[in-house]
Parts: sequence; C-alpha cells; structure tokens
Amino acid sequence: MDDWQRILRDSLRTPEEIADRFGLDLEEVRKISRAFKIQITPYYASLIKRKGDPIYKQVVPDIAELAENSGEDDPLQEDLDSPVPSIVHRYPDRVLFLVSHSCASYCRFCTRKRKVGDVTKIHPRYIENGIDYIKDHPEVRDVIISGGDPLILSDEKLESILSRLRAIPHVEILRIGSRVPCFLPQRITEKLVNMLKKYHPLYMNVHFNHPDEITPESARALNMLADAGIPLGNQTVLLKGINDDVLTMRKLMQKLLTVRVRPYYIYQADYVKGTDHFRTTVEKGLEIYQGLRGWTSGLAVPQYVIDAPGGGGKIPLIPEYVQSISDEKVVMRNYAGEIYVYPQVKTPKRRKTRPHPPCYTVEGQRI
Ligand SMILES: *Cc1c(COP(=O)(O)O)cnc(C)c1O
Ligand code: SF4
Repeated sequence: MDDWQRILRDSLRTPEEIADRFGLDLEEVRKISRAFKIQITPYYASLIKRKGDPIYKQVVPDIAELAENSGEDDPLQEDLDSPVPSIVHRYPDRVLFLVSHSCASYCRFCTRKRKVGDVTKIHPRYIENGIDYIKDHPEVRDVIISGGDPLILSDEKLESILSRLRAIPHVEILRIGSRVPCFLPQRITEKLVNMLKKYHPLYMNVHFNHPDEITPESARALNMLADAGIPLGNQTVLLKGINDDVLTMRKLMQKLLTVRVRPYYIYQADYVKGTDHFRTTVEKGLEIYQGLRGWTSGLAVPQYVIDAPGGGGKIPLIPEYVQSISDEKVVMRNYAGEIYVYPQVKTPKRRKTRPHPPCYTVEGQRI
C-alpha cells in the first residue's frame, strides 16, 4: 500500500468519528451522512484551526444540509445531456467524462451530491460505454476527465483510461479535474506524474477555495505536476463565510500563481439542494471580480461564471465597464472607476443596433 492510500484509509468517515472529533450531535451526523457521504482526509482535517473556519466549513457536515425546499438535485440538468451514464455532452466539441465515484474528501457544497460517493451512479462498468461514445463522436476534441475525483483511481486504472482516450485520433486534448492536490497532495507521486506526462497534451484543473489550502504539501504536489509539463488551472466556488470577500480571493489567486496555477473560473455556487447556506448574492461575485481586475496581475483574474440552472452551460458575468457605445465613441469606466473615451473608426454605414456580435458554429458557419 502506498503512503497516500494509507492516509486515505485513515480518513475520518464514520458518523461516530466525525461527531467525536468535532463535538457534534451523533444522531444529526448520522442523518446527514445518509443524504451525502462524509469523509475528511487526516491531512485536510489537520488544516482546521478552529470550529467553523473556512477549511472546517467545506468538509464538516452541518444540519443546514437537511433544510427542505431549497435547491435541486440536478440543477444543471446534466442527466438530460447524458447519452450514456458516464458522459455529459453539453457543448459542441467537448465532453465531461465521469470515471470515479469517490473523492478524497467530500465537499459539503458539491454540485454532484446526487451522484458522487455512490458507486451505483458512477460505476466502473460505464467507463467502457463512455470510451465507445467518444470514439463514435468525431466532434469531441476535448475530454474532461472528472467524477468524483479521477486521481482516486490507481495509477494503473487511470492509465488504462488515458491510453485508450489517447488512441482516439480526433481527441486532441485531455483534461483532468481533481481536488486531490488540495485534499490529498501525497497522492501526487513521481510514479503518477511520470505516467501522466506520457499522455500530453494533458491539462489539469484543480480546486482550491481558500489561501490556507496552499500549504508546503500542496505546493510540492502542484510543482511536480507543473514540472511534468501539465498546465494547471484552478476552479474556485464562491462560498459564503469561506471566500466571499475581496481580500481572501485576491490572496488565493495570488498564491495560486506562486505555485504555477492559473486561476480559470470562479463559480457562483450552483442551486443545489442542501447547499443554500453556502450561496452568496451575485452582486458579491461581481464585487470580487472588480476587486481583482486591475488591482492585481491579469493572470490572477479568472472568469466569473454562473453554470446556468436548467443546463444552459457556463455564462460569464462581467461588471459594467462599458458605459455607452455610439457611432462616434465608446465610453468606459476603468478599474478605479475613472471614465475614458475611445473614438470609433469612421465607417460609411454602421448598423444602428446590434444585439450581439455574429455567432459561428464549430464548422465556421455563421448563424
Ligand atoms: C464546464 C463544463 C465543460 C468545460 O467547459 P469549459 O468552459 O470548456 O472549461 C464541459 N462540459 C460540461 C458539461 C461542463 O459543465
Ligand atoms: S472533490 Fe469535487 S466531486 Fe468531490 S465532493 Fe468535492 S466538489 Fe464534489
């Protein structure tokens, strides 16, 4: 057994262990654990400084998860865009491929609470169907390997998936989405990165929500991945009481860059059942975006998106920097709120109103 497997095995997971460690009501913890699995690696638990801090809130269950009438099981309607159980095919040229039902620790705000942690919903036998689906769909040039967490699989299982995907000629890029560098950085070993780098171009999106998660251990893991030539991005979820203020987010984004991770998305928290206590207003998200853009490196500014309820996909939200556009000029506000004017080029005929710029299909056709 590898070190990381031993650490994972020693995770806190029974209601008794959890109630005992955090001084919670055992019956309540039992109830919550029936709704969504509980698990915390000893490494991540060791980052908790006090009850209710930003690390604690992400993984320690709260009775608010059982609140009724709030949120949906599948707010993004992923199940409607799922041609086979392991695939979500929503966008024209890329798919989400769910290969692992388990995670190193379970985020209490997880969007896929309905599936994650349940082997009957994300089953290894669906992996075959997923690979066949991708083979049969030449438009798929980008595969996002997700779950659950793909890095919970053994090196051998993961390699068998990567090598079969790599053998499909139309698959140009592979991406892995993982929270393991945050929850279980010991899992990033020489053996793993040497295997991963055989399957380039391979990208990885990690998931850090708070600057305190960037520790010497996670920095080591991220640097190993970067040294293997894997471009690293980060997806953060905007969470009440965890990272919903400008200074925390700015520090998180800046620290990510020091460990060679490029901030990619900040997600508005999805409308998921049992996660209302994590949701903030959208104004808060826009305020955070404005507190990043211009005030710190452009590299530290991710896109702020809402994954639209009902399956609309990710929609970027940008504060109003453009004040007005006319034939003569564009009036804009800069990051500090000062007004600037850009003169338009003189064209003989400019169409008066244009609701949005032209759209093109993947084949380059204008629609
Ligand atoms: C987020 C997501 C993707 C990837 O989107 P990008 O903007 O390309 O990172 C693909 N498919 C689904 C279903 C998604 O939710
Ligand atoms: S690591 Fe990802 S999939 Fe797993 S519980 Fe957290 S958000 Fe959900």
